[in-house]
Amino acid sequence: MPAPLRLPSPRFQLETYEPAAREPCLCGSGLRFRDCCKGKYGLEGYAKGRALVAKREFRQALPELRRHLTWYRLSHLAHTAVFLPTTNPAVLHLLEVDILAMFEMTERLMFCYMKTGAIHDFPAVLNELRSAIEDPRWLAKVTYLHALYLRNFRSKAAAWRVITQSRLLSAVEDAELLSIAIEAAPPDFPPQDRITLAERILAVSDDPDHQLKYTTVKVILMFAELGDTSGINHLLAALETYEKIPVGKRTTYGQWQLGSCYTLTARLAGREDLAKRAVAQFHSCLPNPDYTAIARADMLRECGECYIQLQDWQKARACFEASLNEADDALTLIYLAGAMVGQKEYSSALDTLENIDIRKLRPAGKVDLGFAWAELALATQEGAHKARALVSLQELQDTRGYFEKVRLALIAELKIERPIDRARPPFLRRMFTRYLALQPNFFGLGLNLNAIIEDIFPEHSPKDE
Ligand SMILES: [Zn+2]
Repeated sequence: MPAPLRLPSPRFQLETYEPAAREPCLCGSGLRFRDCCKGKYGLEGYAKGRALVAKREFRQALPELRRHLTWYRLSHLAHTAVFLPTTNPAVLHLLEVDILAMFEMTERLMFCYMKTGAIHDFPAVLNELRSAIEDPRWLAKVTYLHALYLRNFRSKAAAWRVITQSRLLSAVEDAELLSIAIEAAPPDFPPQDRITLAERILAVSDDPDHQLKYTTVKVILMFAELGDTSGINHLLAALETYEKIPVGKRTTYGQWQLGSCYTLTARLAGREDLAKRAVAQFHSCLPNPDYTAIARADMLRECGECYIQLQDWQKARACFEASLNEADDALTLIYLAGAMVGQKEYSSALDTLENIDIRKLRPAGKVDLGFAWAELALATQEGAHKARALVSLQELQDTRGYFEKVRLALIAELKIERPIDRARPPFLRRMFTRYLALQPNFFGLGLNLNAIIEDIFPEHSPKDE
């Protein structure tokens, strides 16, 4: 074994790489170095910062994390960057370690900015950190965080602009950058290209949460956009792989994703056993305090959808009502109306649909609403309901793939006079039940993780052990 490398005093080394006192600090605070981290930076900042984040003392955590970033940037300059021209494998390994470590710190910093209400200062921090490491992989991380900020706090279009302007998407295989690209890509982005993005994530990431999520995304896109059902086997395999991870080693997000994946697979494969499995999975998640009310509402709604597949309208309705108690959501009201139609309580369903505030619905929700009106009209065969449903379906714009197929089939069906007992031909029933599970998953792509899980950096994550 070679003798351990003896480094000179790190403090001495780092000081030689410090900026001048009047220059901006390396931590991105925008202050002069002398007024910010000078004489205060160190290795211990990270542990202190993390401990403060765990105690939810974000304001105090911020300067600690910043000082540690400054320390890490100087360490990178002293111990890694100077040796880079040698392309020595050990140095290249150090470079990779630096990129990942610095990324984790910056992500945590972003979280603190968010929690202290100063998130709009974060882009300036990123701008300063852009030059921290000269490597396209680091630029990909910075671009990812910038796009994440824009998607969460500005718009998807702004996030997409930053991603395309960076020209990194075709140059770097970075799972985070690819995943934000899939979410921010505009509606006219070709479905096949979106599927390719999901496949690239699956190829570069060994994170089990990524594997489950992007297998789901890929299979949904194949089905919804291209009408290809061959992905069901991929989903079943992904579920089997995920189930092998001991429960204690799974993340909060992964547990929730697992339930969603069961819901979707149950519908696509027409398997009631999987719908029951999904309900059990969500019920095991619900008591976990790390989930926000929005996440609990989402899980309860998915349970309701499973009960719709099981044709247990009463339980479905109870789940949708419980979901509405957690978070008021027009989409859940649409599903509730569907369960009421199942119970043949048509006037309650009508009241519910009529009271939905269309302005609160996203474009995807308007598709749901149109389909729900059609479901009621086909069940009652009443002229007024049919007319309402036709208007709602004809107003929809930009429906594509599977959804467009269902829309056209419903319009055709609504124009036919049928006796009530033959109201819903089996093919439409199948379309409905498939559709119901697909819709929130499909558009749930852009879910804001911070809205789902209270603490995106659980300090006692099993991964750290
Ligand atoms: Zn500083």
